[in-house]
Amino acid sequence: MSKPQYHVAIIGAGLGGLAAAIGIARAGHRVTIIEQATALGEVGAGIQIPPNSSRILRRYGLLEKIETVSVRPKDFILRSYKDGAMLSKQNMLPYAVDAYGNPYLHIHRADYHKILAEEAHRLGVSIQLGSSVTAIDFETPAIHIKDKPDFRADIVVGADGLKSVCREALLGHADPPKLTGDLAYRIVVKAEDMVKHENLRELVDNPAINYWMGPNAHAVCYLLKGGGLYNVVLACPDNLPELINTQAADIQEMRDFFAKWDARLKTLLSIVQETSKWRLQNSEEMKKWSHPSGKFALLGDACHATLPYLAQGAAMAVEDGAVLGALMEKLEDKAQLKDVLVIYEKLRKERTTRIVKGSTALREIFHLEDGERQQERDRQLLYEQPFEDFPNRWADPVFQPWLFSYDAHAEVEKAWKTYKAGQFPLTYGKFKPRPNL
Ligand SMILES: Cc1cc2nc3c(=O)[nH]c(=O)nc-3n(C[C@H](O)[C@H](O)[C@H](O)COP(=O)(O)OP(=O)(O)OC[C@H]3O[C@@H](n4cnc5c(N)ncnc54)[C@H](O)[C@@H]3O)c2cc1C
Repeated sequence: MSKPQYHVAIIGAGLGGLAAAIGIARAGHRVTIIEQATALGEVGAGIQIPPNSSRILRRYGLLEKIETVSVRPKDFILRSYKDGAMLSKQNMLPYAVDAYGNPYLHIHRADYHKILAEEAHRLGVSIQLGSSVTAIDFETPAIHIKDKPDFRADIVVGADGLKSVCREALLGHADPPKLTGDLAYRIVVKAEDMVKHENLRELVDNPAINYWMGPNAHAVCYLLKGGGLYNVVLACPDNLPELINTQAADIQEMRDFFAKWDARLKTLLSIVQETSKWRLQNSEEMKKWSHPSGKFALLGDACHATLPYLAQGAAMAVEDGAVLGALMEKLEDKAQLKDVLVIYEKLRKERTTRIVKGSTALREIFHLEDGERQQERDRQLLYEQPFEDFPNRWADPVFQPWLFSYDAHAEVEKAWKTYKAGQFPLTYGKFKPRPNL
């Protein structure tokens, strides 16, 4: 019997939609992406690719290409905001490859997106630009597009990000993203401008991921583009006007907020030419990600938007796509399709919820005000061997392997064996949102 082949429509050509398109096209299905933008691209600057994601990119044969435009950080470093003193260090090079077989990387989003888009094209994925989805008929299934005819496919995947029309359609009511209380300044500085300042040289010469932790805020900095650019993200309290999620920022306001921070950070901010503020929002765990018709599922930020504090948002979306693609490769007959979407959701939901909640929990750890709790955090970081729930999650002996060793394809192999043996639990229990983990 020949394997069933489907036409899958993916809504959204972000990193998640593209990665899913690659996974599903590699499984032998036809894929069309429906994207509202009139040109392909990514906003923002840098992004971290952890080993759980680089493992999938290697499998897709893309890691070499990605590595030509990325930086491998030597260490992950947590610092005190006051003087920049190092509180905790976790090696990443060679550790990530030694422990997980795959590197930890930094890349410019535009480069990452371009590589995924090129691979999707190479695999025959077609991308319909300028198509803003307004609603979905889950049974047919059909996608309603503003000022365009409906688009039909066998399966629809909603990968339309944080403000997701697809999520709201599945829920049947409005579900705007949730405020987290924080915003981020996103900044890129030229390394050649940094080396003119003696105290910034080390940041350029030593490729590390540097985090400064301080009251109500933290800074994340790393090199991009073979070391030519320096990516800076400053997370601090959200003071954007209601309903405005992105805005050009007043540079002096930003400098004033960090005026009492490490001299190096202040020097760095003194050379910033322009920046913008981004409201950081997330979503609550959904009861279900898929429709009972068995023809629709969500993926990426559309169903698990997160604070970026564990640097795992896009990595989770890449994992989603890999799991969905690998499951669709297993399909033997049409009757299994409905089950495949249930297995997909069951494999993914618990993990992504844990990461979203873990990211929120880090907000408190990173942003402690000066005082007893901050002193205790710093004491643990400086003097204790990492233990479970250690404030440096990148060094946590339980969380780190759980996070980085995830193998989407191995998870599917295991689940499919269980399913074929008739033992995979295909029903949903009563939904109880998980508490903070
Ligand atoms: C400051 C910051 C730093 C981050 N750092 C990291 C990091 O280091 N590592 C990491 O893994 N993640 C990081 N993330 C998270 C990561 O950026 C996101 O999780 C990821 O980009 C989500 O991808 P996505 O494809 O699901 O959604 P999106 O990237 O939002 O893509 C959605 C796509 O759908 C399209 N779309 C939306 N609505 C419609 C519609 N109605 N019709 C048609 N198309 C539509 C959009 O135009 C877009 O192209 C960070 C996030 C932030 C804010």
